[in-house]
Amino acid sequence: MDRKERLRQQAIKEIKAFKQNKCWVHGDQLIHGISEPSYGLPSGYDVEVQKRYPFHGLFVDLGCLAIPSDQTQGQTTNICPTCQKEAIVYLDSIEDEEEE
Ligand SMILES: [Zn+2]
Repeated sequence: MDRKERLRQQAIKEIKAFKQNKCWVHGDQLIHGISEPSYGLPSGYDVEVQKRYPFHGLFVDLGCLAIPSDQTQGQTTNICPTCQKEAIVYLDSIEDEEEE
């Protein structure tokens, strides 16, 4: 399968899951939750987490906009419980590595 075809397959999978309100990585039903963008992330890892666990709900990508902190609280988002659990484990393992 070439790269283009793989991307197409991935897009179909994502759209299908999106319509069913499911996580396309784990197949879990998404829940509406409040994202608290207070999780301290080592720079560069947010992209990796986003890629692996698209519905972690741990933080909202605010880009480089400077938003007053009171406005960054309580954003509603879709959360996959498995993504959230595994993203926390993943982030914890990064922190452990950095301490060594
Ligand atoms: Zn998931």
